[in-house]
Amino acid sequence: MSKSSSTKNSVRILPESLINKIAAGEVVERPASVVKELLENAIDAGATEVQVSIKNGGKDLISILDNGCGMNESDAQLAVERHATSKIINEEDLFRIRTLGFRGEALASIAAISHFEILTCNDETQGATRIFIKGGYLEQVGKIGFPKGTKVTVERLFYNTPARLKFLKTTATELQHIQQHLVQKSLAYPHIHFRLTHNRQLLLNLSGGQALETRIQQLYGEEFKEILMPVKHEETYLQFSGLISFPSKPRTSRRWQYIFVNERNVKSPSINHGIYDGYGTFLGKGQHPVFFLNLRIDPTEIDVNVHPAKTEIRFRNNQLVHTILVDQISRALKDCASRRFFGREHSHSQMSRTDVSGQIELPMENPLTMESPSSGKMFSTNKKRNSEARDLPPRGSLKYKKTQIISVLSQENNIAEIRPIQEKTQDSTSTTTLETLDYAPGNLPENEIRNLFLILPLPLVPKKIRVLGQFRKTYIIAENDAGLVLIEQRALHERLIYDTYVESLQKKEVKIQTFKISLLLELSPQESVLLEQSLVPLALSGFAVSPFGGSTFAVDSIPECLSEDQVEKVVREILDRLALFGKRGQNEEILRDVCQVVSEQASMPYEQELGQFEMDCLLAQWEELDSPMASIKDLPLLVEFSQQELEKRLRR
Ligand code: ADP
Ligand code: MG
Repeated sequence: MSKSSSTKNSVRILPESLINKIAAGEVVERPASVVKELLENAIDAGATEVQVSIKNGGKDLISILDNGCGMNESDAQLAVERHATSKIINEEDLFRIRTLGFRGEALASIAAISHFEILTCNDETQGATRIFIKGGYLEQVGKIGFPKGTKVTVERLFYNTPARLKFLKTTATELQHIQQHLVQKSLAYPHIHFRLTHNRQLLLNLSGGQALETRIQQLYGEEFKEILMPVKHEETYLQFSGLISFPSKPRTSRRWQYIFVNERNVKSPSINHGIYDGYGTFLGKGQHPVFFLNLRIDPTEIDVNVHPAKTEIRFRNNQLVHTILVDQISRALKDCASRRFFGREHSHSQMSRTDVSGQIELPMENPLTMESPSSGKMFSTNKKRNSEARDLPPRGSLKYKKTQIISVLSQENNIAEIRPIQEKTQDSTSTTTLETLDYAPGNLPENEIRNLFLILPLPLVPKKIRVLGQFRKTYIIAENDAGLVLIEQRALHERLIYDTYVESLQKKEVKIQTFKISLLLELSPQESVLLEQSLVPLALSGFAVSPFGGSTFAVDSIPECLSEDQVEKVVREILDRLALFGKRGQNEEILRDVCQVVSEQASMPYEQELGQFEMDCLLAQWEELDSPMASIKDLPLLVEFSQQELEKRLRR
């Protein structure tokens, strides 16, 4: 007989304490897992008040007190046994889980690897039960005075599993994991009051009885206040409600994405794909939506028993869930995009208001060369122009004769958006009237579209293209020598703004508006660092921004094509892009981002009714700017149908 077989142990059933220790390895990975399980028990017990106290990242103490239903003595004694649960009775129940817990493992597992105490009371006239367990061994059961509810205290976690103890991270990291669980639960249950203290310091105090919006505000302050839109879908198979970010407000991180299915925070590829596919082309590469979504579905339609930590779920009909989400999310986003004017979505700006226009001399030493987003080539400062354009004043600089003053009053704040340089208005209450115009009276603009007049003197009609009409408030229909042309009006506008802005930047003639009182911008620490690194390119682009102490920044001027209430949004968007590409330190790239963001924000909304004059005006300026064929996102601006093509299709 070989040595190994002679020493082989005989088969035996493991002792209960060892089984519990092994099970604990699956359920309790770190202190935060204990917090998660105990929070879930408190929530399942119907608590409306939950207090979590932690010492040293949970390594020394985790204590959770709730005002839920509590337990009587016999239930309490059973509850700490493995496979003891009040939440399911038979196999069918496993497929219609309505509680967070159901495996009956948590208490036994935690008690196996710590000094564990539970105080619980379900009837104050009967008194409370106290059970103390050390490393899985029951040490004490007794009666104690304690109000209705439960308090579980876990000390010296992993004291008898040295391997686990060794893998614990720093106090700060462990605490972060714990906080994350509290954030998740508090978002799923805004009606519950949650408190978290660490080493006796109060970290979170989230009053209960709240709506999801309020809970988000309690957690994140103003950060998401202006970027989220509510969504709701009520249908028998799948219902959902919550908040998702506006299409124009993507983030560069997935950090703010919460999905709850029947109030359980889960990871689910089908839900995630559904949401992303719903955003579709609204999301660029590396862009991520923010969402807080609560889904409700019949528990028999899902399987939550996929993973011991119950963070994954499976849907019986994955495809259907995906389809509903894609359809509903994209519909909500499209509705929202068509309802809103770009830049008008911020009703409450944190900033103070003033409005003074002027022009700054930018501290630009070398003429800038910038890469065109569409051609991939470099713009040269001496861009070739057609002969008619050569004698015109610099485009985008908005220098023009007194007789050509065109003032368009912004609907919201009465700022004259386009003013001659000579008229440096310092008074925010001044109004500007429509003065002598170069075009015939019948041709006055019908709308007050911001940044419509980019080139002055304004070419009135295009020379090589003739406007025929508009289609669905989105496309200009026109004809040229070749045939029929459909132009995407917003993309065109954006491109024109981009080109004129880039050119004015290169010529150091960015037209700006300065503020009498600085606008103050509150940023996160990460955003502050990024902003500080980008102050020079921002100044070149017309944004005079300076540190104002802490993570607050003062904005004293902005490009004139923007309105004041867009500043915060634009700055944040620029910072988001910078964060996406990390430390590039390349001023040119930052400048290109700035130009793109500014043009996106300064252009007309996706749907906009245009009058004949406005369409003529856009196309005339397009011709003056060398008729670019691609949008700033490098997509086609227009489609042409030649006469031959039309005839072929109509089988003439
Ligand atoms: P599970 O939650 O999967 O049922 P646990 O081991 O976490 O398993 O808990 C076992 C049982 O103890 C629960 O089913 C519940 O009846 C009871 N229990 C645990 N914590 C609480 C609590 N905070 N309040 C009331 N009952 C509790
Ligand atoms: Mg449980």
